[in-house]
Amino acid sequence: MKTIGIIGGMSWESTAEYYKQLNEGVKQHKGGLHSAKIILNSVDFAEIELLQRSGEWDKSAVLLCDAAQSIERAGADFVLIATNTMHKVAEQVQEAVSIPLLHIADTTGEVLVEKGITKVGLLGTAFTMEEAFYKQRLSDKFGIEVVVPNGVQRKLVHDVIYNELCLGKVNRRSKDDFHTIISDLAESGAQGVILGCTEIGLLVSQDETDTPLFDTVELHALAAVKEALR
Ligand code: GLU
Repeated sequence: MKTIGIIGGMSWESTAEYYKQLNEGVKQHKGGLHSAKIILNSVDFAEIELLQRSGEWDKSAVLLCDAAQSIERAGADFVLIATNTMHKVAEQVQEAVSIPLLHIADTTGEVLVEKGITKVGLLGTAFTMEEAFYKQRLSDKFGIEVVVPNGVQRKLVHDVIYNELCLGKVNRRSKDDFHTIISDLAESGAQGVILGCTEIGLLVSQDETDTPLFDTVELHALAAVKEALR
C-alpha cells in the first residue's frame, strides 16, 4: 500500500474528515484492522487565512511547498492539498516536490464526466467561485460548464465558510440558506452542485436534496484510496 501525504489544517475541521474517510476507505477495501498509511502536515490556518485575505498567495505557496517537501522527506508516495481554495497554488506545490500531487478539481472532474454532467454549480470560497484556477480547470480539462451563485449568495457562502464552518459551527439557518442556493443553481440548469470547499459537507448532505451533490472531500479521499491501493 502506498503512503498518502496530506497538507491539512485548512481547516482542521475538514482535515479530520479526510483522515476518517481515508481510513474508512482502506478498511473497506482491505478489511480487518487495515488502515491508511498517512503522513499529515497540518498548518496553522490563521497564518494561511491572513495571507489569503491580503492577497499574498506567493507567501502562502512557500508555506505549502515547505509542508509538501517535509511530507516527501517523510516518505509519502503522493500528496493531497486538503482544501479547494489552496489549489490556487497547486502548481507551485507540485513543482516543489517530485512525488505527484492529486489535484482536487481533477478527482471531481473525473466523476462528473463519468456521471454525464456537462453543467454544474459550484459552491466554495469567493476565491474558488470567482477566480479562474478551479473553474477553468474543469472546463478546459473536462469540458464542464461551471455556474456560480449570484454576488449576494457568493458572499453568504464565503462568510459561512470562514465564520462558521472553519470554526466548527453548524447553523440551521445557514443550512437552509445553502439549500436555497443549491435549488437556485439547479433551476438555472446545473445538473448537480460541487461542494467545492472541504467544510461544506459538514453543513449539507445528499439526503436533504434531490439535486446531486459532489462533495470534494469524499471524491478526493476516494481517489486517494484508489491510488494508495493501486
Ligand atoms: N477548506 C476550504 C476549501 O476547500 C476553505 C478554507 C481555505 O481557504 O483553505 O476551499
